[in-house]
Amino acid sequence: MVLPVRECELSGWGRHPVQRCGVLRPDRYGDLSRIEADTLPRGLGRSYGDSSLNQGGRVVEMTRLNRILEFDETLGILVAEAGLSLAEVAEIFLPRGWFLPVTPGTKFVTLGGAIASDVHGKNHHGEGCFSAHVAWIELFTPALGRLTCSPEEHPEIFWATVGGQGLTGIIGAMALQLKPVSSLWMEVTHHPARELESAFNLLSDPEADAPYTVAWIDCLAKGRELGRSIFMAGHHRTEKNLPPAKAPRSKPLIQAPFNFPSGCLNSLTVRAFNGVYYRRNGRKRFPFLSAMDPFFYPLDMVGHWNRIYGRRGFVQYQSVLPPGTAFEGVKAQLEEISAAEAASFLAVLKRLGAAGPGHLSFPTEGYTLALDLPYRGPETEALLKRLDAIVLKGGGRVNLCKDAHLSPESFRAMYPRFEEWLGVKAQVDPEWMLQSSLSRRLRMKEGA
Ligand SMILES: Cc1cc2nc3c(=O)[nH]c(=O)nc-3n(C[C@H](O)[C@H](O)[C@H](O)COP(=O)(O)OP(=O)(O)OC[C@H]3O[C@@H](n4cnc5c(N)ncnc54)[C@H](O)[C@@H]3O)c2cc1C
Repeated sequence: MVLPVRECELSGWGRHPVQRCGVLRPDRYGDLSRIEADTLPRGLGRSYGDSSLNQGGRVVEMTRLNRILEFDETLGILVAEAGLSLAEVAEIFLPRGWFLPVTPGTKFVTLGGAIASDVHGKNHHGEGCFSAHVAWIELFTPALGRLTCSPEEHPEIFWATVGGQGLTGIIGAMALQLKPVSSLWMEVTHHPARELESAFNLLSDPEADAPYTVAWIDCLAKGRELGRSIFMAGHHRTEKNLPPAKAPRSKPLIQAPFNFPSGCLNSLTVRAFNGVYYRRNGRKRFPFLSAMDPFFYPLDMVGHWNRIYGRRGFVQYQSVLPPGTAFEGVKAQLEEISAAEAASFLAVLKRLGAAGPGHLSFPTEGYTLALDLPYRGPETEALLKRLDAIVLKGGGRVNLCKDAHLSPESFRAMYPRFEEWLGVKAQVDPEWMLQSSLSRRLRMKEGA
């Protein structure tokens, strides 16, 4: 039986660009072997730019393939189909004492999407990327058919798929090592940092270190206050006699009901919001208990919050810079944003640990800054080019799962292992059947 294809306008979470794609939604695992090789996998569409788009072609939405296949209660090993979301994993397994070993800032992400973008969380400096906790995957490749890949079996294909943005095949199922936790509570400490140097000092200070750390930056602050932020550190509480905690929710608390008019988000409104946020959170000087959702997923509380940026959408710019150039590079980026009055809500600064083995995996040792910028056409494109120049000068890179603008040349300069990745692509898909809007924009098929 041929699966029905529905033509529709699709976008990533940033709602820019919007492109026409044919969408398949299989609900049986067996369907994956029958899907044509030029069909790009897509999860919950939480990548921001064009990595889950295939303009004029087809995508296979994996969200109905979300069955749990096995769970080892003693070891915490979960075997599941790749369309299962992190929200579903948390909802089912947290009450049994198991949590995700690594989680991004939203839980509305599929297991397959988490591998394809090799996502990182607030604990990258200690726990590495999502892929570090994956025992194996089952991959449906265009040329070699169905393969089990792991760090031991077909390791090259495994590491090219980790961070490979769906371009080596469809991940159908996987085994993930969950992490034991003995309560649903986090203990959190906030430290206000008056300017960027203090934020960097806190992120690198062993005294302030914790399993999970992040700094929320007010990126409209200028002059002596440039980079003012709230540094947040958290760890799981382990005592047994804690009050009952709210279980994680698999649905947002409220919804943004419609597209906000484009003038709503301007430097005045964002500055006012950031000021209130800084003062409110900066007051919390003593450690306090937090439920998991507000600590790990504050943005998930508002469903469709991406509508706040209006019809034209927004782009997220996430870069990482090595320790030696990070301070100057982050400062230069914040100066650009601030001068352009490109109203970005609070930006996020995190420390990253050593790079993993994924050829195109984003995280490398250093500091990563993530900024949301409303899309305003050529003005935004020009700003992004200036930001790229700063990142290239500092020897850093941009995260592909957030990207919608990078040039083929900048991509090659930022990802020196691309040639190695191409060697694996030549094995699993020599004809380049499987492409995406991102792979075409970066002219990946043309070689290194
Ligand atoms: C609010 C928010 C916060 C975020 N925070 C973080 C963060 O802290 N850290 C971080 O690393 N990322 C973060 N992200 C990005 C997000 O985690 C990644 O983009 C993730 O890949 C999205 O997963 P998805 O299931 O929505 O996949 P999609 O966005 O649908 O697809 C992303 C890529 O994965 C591929 N893919 C999807 N499913 C499969 C599959 N089954 N087999 C093979 N390839 C597949 C697609 O082809 C595409 O290239 C955040 C995103 C949002 C919206």
